[in-house]
Order: sequence, then C-alpha cells, then structure tokens
Amino acid sequence: MASPTPTLPDHMRAQFLDAFKQPYNLRLTLLPSITSAYDLLIKVDAASYCHTDAVLAEGLMKPYPSSFPHIGCHEFAGTVVSLPSFPAAPASQFKIGDRVGVPGRSYHPCGSCFECVDTGRPDSDPLGYSVYCPHALNHGISAPGGFREYAIADSRQIAPIPAGLSAVQTAALMCAGITIYAALKRCGLQEGQRVGILGCGGGLGHLGLQFAVKMGLKVIGVDNVEGPLALARALDTGARILDARVDDPEEIVRQIGNEDGKTEQAEMGLDAVIILPESQKAFDYGVNLLKNHGRCVVVSFPEKGFHISSQALVFRDISVTGSLVGSNKTLREMLEFAAEHQIRGVIKRFPLSKLNTLVEEYHKGGGGKFVVDMALDDGE
Ligand SMILES: [Zn+2]
Ligand SMILES: [Zn+2]
Repeated sequence: MASPTPTLPDHMRAQFLDAFKQPYNLRLTLLPSITSAYDLLIKVDAASYCHTDAVLAEGLMKPYPSSFPHIGCHEFAGTVVSLPSFPAAPASQFKIGDRVGVPGRSYHPCGSCFECVDTGRPDSDPLGYSVYCPHALNHGISAPGGFREYAIADSRQIAPIPAGLSAVQTAALMCAGITIYAALKRCGLQEGQRVGILGCGGGLGHLGLQFAVKMGLKVIGVDNVEGPLALARALDTGARILDARVDDPEEIVRQIGNEDGKTEQAEMGLDAVIILPESQKAFDYGVNLLKNHGRCVVVSFPEKGFHISSQALVFRDISVTGSLVGSNKTLREMLEFAAEHQIRGVIKRFPLSKLNTLVEEYHKGGGGKFVVDMALDDGE
C-alpha cells in the first residue's frame, strides 16, 4: 500500500557551483517542481561524489554546465515523495515512499531517436527510452543533480533499491557501480576466465574487484598508489593485488601461464583487462597482461586518448572497446546482484553542508567513495 503523501516544505538546502574552480556554496532554494508526466519528486537521502564532478567543476567539460548556478551529482538515492498529477501521466511502477537509486543518465530522453527506438541490443531498454539518447539531459551535468535535499528524477531512468542495500551504498553504485558492472559484462567472459582491473583501489575499481570475484572470474587488481593499494588489499576479495611500481607484468604473465599449464608465451595472460586510470602507463601495463586475442575495455577518457601499438592489434589480435554506464535494465540487474552478493563500497560519509570538505578529502586520493549522507544533518 502506498504511504500517505508527505507534507513538503517550500524551501530546501542545496549546494551550488557558482563558477568554475570555486568551492560549492550552500543556500536555501525552492523545491524543484514536476514538469513532465514521467517526473517523480525524490527526497534525496544520499548523494555520491564522482570524478566527473571534479572534472566538471574545473571547467573541463564545456559546454557543461550550460549555466550557473549549477547543482552537481549524478549518482544519488532517495525516497519518492510526490508523483505527477498530469491527467496523461503514464502508470508508473513507483509510489510514494519507494526507495530508489538515481543515475545520471538519462533524464527526459526524446523517445524517438535511433537510440530510443533501438530495442535490438541485449541490454536495450523498452521502446522509447535509452541512456544513450543524444537529446536527453544528465543529472549533475546538463541538468541539476543530487547535492540538494529534493530532486526530480525520470521514472524511466531509476531503479528500486533492493532490501538490504542502504541509500548511501546505493548512491555510490549509481555511476561507479553501474559503470564497472557494465564494463565487466563488456569483457564477455565466462566463469573461470581471467580479468584484470587497472586502478583497482579507486571508486570504480574497488567495486569492480568485488563484482568480478562474485561473477566467478579469476581477478587481478593493479594500482600504483599506497592508499588505494591498501584499500584493495583490505577488501580481501580473493583477487590478487599487484603494485604496478614493483610487479613486472611479463613476470606476472609467466606466473599465470604456469598456473594455467600453458607453454606458449602467446597463450599466457589475462582474457580481458579494464582500464580505469587516465594514464598511458596503466593502459600499457594492462595490454601487457593480456594473452593473444585478449580484450581491453577502456572506461577512462584522458584528453589525448590512449596509444596502442599496431603490434598488439595486428600480431596479438588485442581488441579495444569502450564502455559507458549501462542501460536501466543493467542498472536494475546490477543493484540486485550487489544486494545478493553483498557488494559494498568503502565509503566516507559527509553531511550536505560539508561538501567542500568531502571534495578536499577526495583529492587526497585515498581511494573508495565519498558520499553525502543526508542523515548526518549537522543543523546548518
Ligand atoms: Zn560518474
Ligand atoms: Zn532519443
């Protein structure tokens, strides 16, 4: 049964970005209003910080945000507090009181472009909705995001939170979780095959180690920074953690080959690697861990891209592919998987008023995820 409609305040607190390269400013503002039959008003319970928020605030994602002031955050979670009252509102599966996770993509897709009508891919969403729609907006980037007490979400883009997952844990999965989960699926591996995760102690990486092991893969994690390495080791997932500063990839490949009983150099190594850091060194390290015909899935997007040798492409038949978030179908699957297998982010929580402190802590590079928890209300 639906909960009664809560009485809502007129105003709410929100963290605004007023200019590039400036701290966020906490102010009171009006609650956002429902403008589409697909909209739901959400009381935000947790809002997670992503690397993309840092990139956007630095002015490196122009033309976004299209205007100031801007409200960041494209991975958050909350509770439905208001439904559309339009006569033509589609029957939404959501009701007042439902706990939902909100990803950045895609808010108000056009419903008619080639992406929105493509239902032929294995992870496609129903007709009329696509996370790839070029006309859709994205929370925290081209539309306001979750660093505020109330937000609007598109009922087609969100996912119910399974029992056993908290809002804080869910928020951290709405970009980082879905991105690494979709990248692991993009590797196209069977249980027992080998995958490497470059940047394994970061926000995506430490979730990836857990997802990959629970998918039944043999996992190697690689990092080159003390804090993230310690975080990855402490997870104790059963994945082998390498320190790229000291572990030689050729030696690792030989060890794996021996373990697998292989005698040919070309058949020794990993079946796939996922590249999370923006560094060529990490990319090269990953490609060097692959056996012939291995697949390299790129998730990061450094300004100058990556270089791969023709030798790797032509003589070793290494394939390179990219991966972006995931469809709503994959998002729901990921959340269910996370709840079932107890995938848990290593999370530092902050109240909304301390978002700038959160950002400072994030830049210290300790790894894991940094999340605004609205329950930590400090009365400001
Ligand atoms: Zn993100
Ligand atoms: Zn579209």
